[in-house]
Amino acid sequence: MYQKSRAWIELDMNNLAHNINQFRKILSPECAIMPAVKANAYGHGAVLIAKALQDLEIKDFCVASADEGVLLRKAGITGQILILGYTSPNQFSDLAKYSLTQTVIDFPYAKMLNDFGQAVFAHVGIDTGMRRLGERSENIEEICKIWELAHLRITGVYSHLCMSDGSGDAERKITLKQIEEFHEVINLLYEKGIHHFKTHIQGSYGVLNYPALRFDYARLGIALYGVLSSSRDQIISDIKLKPVLSLKARIACVKQLHKDEAVGYGMTYRAEKEMRIAVVAIGYADGIPRELSNKGFVLINGKKSDVVGRICMDQLMVDVTDISGVSYGDEVIFIGKSGSSEILVSDLADSINTISNEILSRLGNRLGRVAIKNKF
Ligand SMILES: *Cc1c(COP(=O)(O)O)cnc(C)c1O
Repeated sequence: MYQKSRAWIELDMNNLAHNINQFRKILSPECAIMPAVKANAYGHGAVLIAKALQDLEIKDFCVASADEGVLLRKAGITGQILILGYTSPNQFSDLAKYSLTQTVIDFPYAKMLNDFGQAVFAHVGIDTGMRRLGERSENIEEICKIWELAHLRITGVYSHLCMSDGSGDAERKITLKQIEEFHEVINLLYEKGIHHFKTHIQGSYGVLNYPALRFDYARLGIALYGVLSSSRDQIISDIKLKPVLSLKARIACVKQLHKDEAVGYGMTYRAEKEMRIAVVAIGYADGIPRELSNKGFVLINGKKSDVVGRICMDQLMVDVTDISGVSYGDEVIFIGKSGSSEILVSDLADSINTISNEILSRLGNRLGRVAIKNKF
């Protein structure tokens, strides 16, 4: 398969290595990075990213589902693979077969997982305020009873922060309270003689805004890819991250648009003068948000070019009136650098009121994915 045929992702593996090194500098030497490679590694390509990380001596990974875990195991990932989300009892056999580590969602789920009857690795989720997965932190009796279940091999206990991206006083207060509750659970477990488990609570913003915390793992997602969720985010750490992903597509055709003619479905853009447009071979099925219709822009030969008309499933049109020499097959940049210009996914996200995480994780399976690694 030719990866750079119509639309593709380029992964700068040097930037990935740079980001890992930056995080290793601010984390304690005892804290291991456990990258979140769920949702196809935030659209980047889970196998490509996980294997590159494994080469950088990253051992353990988090995913969202059992299928994502199986995919990594089959691709040769040998460390711990923690499933952060729900696995149906119908699929418990995969946990044992592929040696995956399942999150214990709450006490009833623990019993269900134990009833499967085979040894399964598990991390116990503790809900300290997110009110999503995890047994509530005050239910310490139920939490302790999870260790009585004979088939569970519990290797970790973790929680998740819901306000760590905010740097205001109110957000910090809530986050510190969550951390305190997590510590309380850990200490109560120790008091009951339950030891030998790893602990973790930080995702990207937990590390970026609370770098002094000392837990065994950091579950880094978005920031490891060199991206902030929003360009508006203020972070505490002094850390320079570099984006790993660029999104590119080719020009399928260039044509004249006469004054008063309209472009695309619904004829939502009308030319006020003679124009030239380029049709680009990428659309919303590839993950370009349709909301960028008549709103987004791309880079061609280092120059800005506006999206005109509605974005289609497989194609979209841009204004190239003021860019000379544009031709069939030329590269169009949606995310990344072109000449001295750059489009950050976080700016794109801000412009349509979402976060980088959503745009990246929706990048489609039809896109080619090419890893680029320059020699050092
Ligand atoms: C997705 C996820 C992460 C990673 O989050 P980022 O903000 O992308 O670093 C960590 N922990 C849990 C439980 C998650 O679901």
